[in-house]
Amino acid sequence: MNEKICITKEYMSNDHISETLMEKWCDWQWQVKNTIRKVETVEMILGITFSDSQKFDIERTLAQFPMAISPYYLSLVDIHNYDNDPIFKQCFPSVLELNISPCDMSDPLHEEVDSPAPCITHRYPDRVLFHVSNVCGMYCRHCTRKRKVGDLDSIPSKESLLQGIEYIKNTPVIRDVLLSGGDPFLLSDTMIDWLLKEITAIDHVEVVRIGTRTPVVLPFRITDELVSILKKYDNIWLNTHFNHSREMTTEAGAALKKLKLAGIPLGNQSVLLKGINDCTYIMKDLLHKLILNGVRPYYLYQCDLSEGLEHFRTNIGTGIEIMENLRGHTSGFAIPTYVIDAPGGGGKIPVMPNYLVSWSSNKVVLRNYEGVITTYQMPINDNTSSCDLNCEACHLQRNHDTPCKQYQSIGIAKLLCDYEEDYTLIPEKLLRHSRRE
Ligand SMILES: *Cc1c(COP(=O)(O)O)cnc(C)c1O
Ligand code: SF4
Repeated sequence: MNEKICITKEYMSNDHISETLMEKWCDWQWQVKNTIRKVETVEMILGITFSDSQKFDIERTLAQFPMAISPYYLSLVDIHNYDNDPIFKQCFPSVLELNISPCDMSDPLHEEVDSPAPCITHRYPDRVLFHVSNVCGMYCRHCTRKRKVGDLDSIPSKESLLQGIEYIKNTPVIRDVLLSGGDPFLLSDTMIDWLLKEITAIDHVEVVRIGTRTPVVLPFRITDELVSILKKYDNIWLNTHFNHSREMTTEAGAALKKLKLAGIPLGNQSVLLKGINDCTYIMKDLLHKLILNGVRPYYLYQCDLSEGLEHFRTNIGTGIEIMENLRGHTSGFAIPTYVIDAPGGGGKIPVMPNYLVSWSSNKVVLRNYEGVITTYQMPINDNTSSCDLNCEACHLQRNHDTPCKQYQSIGIAKLLCDYEEDYTLIPEKLLRHSRRE
C-alpha cells in the first residue's frame, strides 16, 4: 500500500499513529503532494468498491470536473454512511454534475466580464476581488468557479499579478482588496508575503481581506511561519468557508486559534447546499461552532447558477425559513446575511423575511420573531433637514481631518438623496421609450 493510503487509514482508524507518521500527516506540503485525484484511491481509503456502472459515471464526471481531496479532508468522511455524508458530498464527484440546466452559466457572476485588468474583478465602487491563485486544498464540488479552479491554463503568472497590482495602484477609489482564487494560501509563504507587501504599501488601500478554505480542508497550512507573515501587516481580515459543523475538528479549531491569537478578525462564508446543510438545526449547529471558535458568520450564499450545481441548489424559501429561525432565536452576531449573488454581475443581494408590516407618516408597524406586532412612533417634530452636501455648513460634525473623498452617489442611494436631480432609474432597453422616436 502506498504511504498516502497507509497514513490516512491509520489516522482514520483512531489507532495509535506513530510520531513520524503524524509528523508527515501534519505537514501541509505532504498533504498537498498526496492530494487524492483517483477514484481507486478513495475506494482503498474508505474500503468501498464502486460498481462498474458507478465507476463509469464517476469517470465521466471527472473528465469534466476533476477531483482533488486532501487526505485530511477525506479522513473526515464517515465510512459507514459515506453516501449521505456532508463531507463526502462536498468533495466526491456526483454524476448529477453533468446535468447542465438551461439556466446554468459558466461565469454567472460575470467575474471575467467585469475585469478591467488581469486577475481583477472590479464590481463595487470601492473594492476589488484579486484572483491571486488558481489552486485549492480541495476542489469543492459546489465551487462557483468550477470551470476555472485547477485549470492549469489559468494559473496567474507573476506578470499578470503585477498588472493587477498596477491597476489597484492606479485606481484611488479602491480601499479594500480581497485576495481570492482559487485559494491564496496555496501560494508559498514568500509569494504571500510579497503580495501583502505590495498591496499594503499602496496608500489608498485601507484593508486587505483573504478568502481561504484552508482552515477547513488543510488546517496544517496555518503554520506559525505563515501567521508571523500575516502579523506583519496592519489590517488583514480573513474569511473562511465552513459549511457543516462536522468540519470543525480539533485541527481546524487549532488553526483558527492561531489566527485569532495573531489578532486577525475571522469571518465565515457558507453556501446553502441541498442535502448538506439546508436545515435550520444543522445551520444553527454550524453557526454556534463558529462562534465557539471565534469566527463571525458573515454570509450565507444561495448556491450560484454555475454549470453542474443544479443538484446543490435549494429553494430560496428554504433559505428564508432558515433565516426566520435564526433572528431572535440565537445571538444576533451568530447570524450571517443570506445573499443571492445576482447572475450577470449584479453583486450580492440580501434576502430575508420581512419585518416591516406597514407604515404611515408618523408610525411604522413591525413584527418580531415571535409574531408580536408592534409599532414605532416617528419623532413628533421631525425637522430632519435635507442634505445639500455642504458639510462645512452642516450642524453635524463630519470629521474633516480625514480627507473628503470625491463623493459620487449611485443606484438607489442616489434616488434617495436630496442633492441629486435624478428621480428614476430607467432600464436601458425600455420598450415604451423606443416608441417615442
Ligand atoms: C463578494 C464580492 C466582493 C465583496 O463584497 P462584500 O459585500 O464587501 O463582502 C467584492 N467584489 C466582488 C466581485 C465580489 O464578488
Ligand atoms: S476552496 Fe473555494 S475556490 Fe477552491 S474549490 Fe472550494 S469553493 Fe472553489
